[in-house]
Amino acid sequence: MITLKYQSYVGGHWTTPGGKPFSSVNPRTREIVATYASCGAAEAERALSMAHQAYQRYRSLDKDAIAKFLGAIAGEIEALGDQLLDTADRETGLGIPRLTGERARTCGQLRAFAQLVSEGQWVQASIDTAQPDRQPLRRPDIRRMLRPIGPVVVFGASNFPFAFGAVGGDTASALAAGNPVVVKGHSFHPATSELFCHAVAKAAESCGLPEGIFSLLLGDNHALGASLVTHPYTQAVGFTGSLRGGRILMDLAASREAPIPVYTEMGSINPVFICDDALKTKAETIAAGLSASVCMGTGQFCTSPGIVVIRENPEFEKMLAGMFAEKPRGVMLHARIASGFAEAVSETMKHGDVNWLNRVEATALDDKMTPPNILMKTSAAAFLADPKLSEEMFGPAILMVACRDAAQMREVANHLSGNLTATLHATEADSEAGKLLEILEQKVGRVVFNGYPTGVEVVPSQQHGGPYPATSVASSTSVGADAINRFSRFVAYQDAPNGLLPEALKNENAYGIYRKVNGKLSRDPL
Ligand code: NAP
Repeated sequence: MITLKYQSYVGGHWTTPGGKPFSSVNPRTREIVATYASCGAAEAERALSMAHQAYQRYRSLDKDAIAKFLGAIAGEIEALGDQLLDTADRETGLGIPRLTGERARTCGQLRAFAQLVSEGQWVQASIDTAQPDRQPLRRPDIRRMLRPIGPVVVFGASNFPFAFGAVGGDTASALAAGNPVVVKGHSFHPATSELFCHAVAKAAESCGLPEGIFSLLLGDNHALGASLVTHPYTQAVGFTGSLRGGRILMDLAASREAPIPVYTEMGSINPVFICDDALKTKAETIAAGLSASVCMGTGQFCTSPGIVVIRENPEFEKMLAGMFAEKPRGVMLHARIASGFAEAVSETMKHGDVNWLNRVEATALDDKMTPPNILMKTSAAAFLADPKLSEEMFGPAILMVACRDAAQMREVANHLSGNLTATLHATEADSEAGKLLEILEQKVGRVVFNGYPTGVEVVPSQQHGGPYPATSVASSTSVGADAINRFSRFVAYQDAPNGLLPEALKNENAYGIYRKVNGKLSRDPL
């Protein structure tokens, strides 16, 4: 059992900063769980200076040493046992079963990156050997691979305190690539973040790593985040959270004297399209799956379905409304998220062409912390005319967009901006499915067929991203092996002596990895 320090961890030292105190609150009971003092620019300066120093050693560590560190972190997280689950449950209200699953995913991610690093393949080594006799000029020997970049700042989201938290996918992938990490801990779950920090600190100590390899700066003021993003030692930012916050940090990073990449994973409305034959043959199954998907976790998933696009169908509406009404209310993560949801829903309802289909007296928007599950309906014409109806309502709500015909469904698809996912329910008899797919694959990172978007499988082929505003860099993913590429950059070595090359590029190919040699994949030594 860890005795909580109620402190931040700055460059290897537990610290009580001089900033204003803030507290996490149990969303079920509204009681204070833990109180911390806010870090500020001084802590940001210290953490990043230490991270910069640590980088010089960490970047050149053997790949197996980095893999061992990631595995050790996973082990230390598991060793936190029920204390981690209980603390996170009190700070988020997400419930022990959900958090148990998320812990397994978090440790699984760390171990997957450990394996990736240990295999060595991720560096994309490529070698074009010299051609001394080429005319009119000799071709030099060029060898290229991915290398680390330097200190990475990570912002986690409130709704995934583990998997996208202090030691979530961004931290794991940045450390795996060979970079120190400075985390701006989420102000809604500081004690949970502190526990994760103890796990990393223990693992770093047992692996003999330098002090600045990991820092956790807790605070509830946005000036702290800004000072981390604008610090000259910061080389990249990983952010999971709201569109508003992500956009502000992107703009800040772009306005630096030396701009840096900011990988923001933000909100999404995850449209679900239901084609005619699928609706005719599987209405009840789809309604059950959809209502379960949107109500899961009180709708607080980045992949929660936010709109359903469908041909006008009163029977389906009635069935879905009934299922929504039957689902129990869940609890929102925090008063700020709860107010944001209530505001977004009431703004949507102000629209003259929006109806609340499952409204009954008992489902009034009375208690913001435990809102009803809401099914609304609008016409395609209204949806196309008002961009506000395309905004994320972060909570258990769906807006059904009723279309006249298949052509109007395509018009709605074309109107959408970037999203993490789109879902297509279709049978072989649905001839419009192909045309919809052609549009949707240009709008999202992942297209789901005859399923539901919640639940993001952590596998190398996963793409968790999408065109703006779902993310800032549509070519990147924050889930799966390729997440590591965000925190690395290619370096080419021209005519370098074999002894000075990184191991992955040396003639011997001691790692036995596949390399592209003169355009062909090969594991042979040169
Ligand atoms: P959030 O309010 O944007 O907070 C995320 C982090 O950014 C917090 O540490 C927050 O600091 C900081 N922050 C926010 N605005 C800032 C600003 N202007 N300047 C400096 N720092 C700033 O997001 P959230 O409420 O935690 O998460 C919910 C949102 O995340 C939803 O929209 C959801 O869809 C999205 N999300 C996306 C994904 C994905 O993979 N795409 C995954 C999960 C969630 P404080 O703690 O001080 O507020």
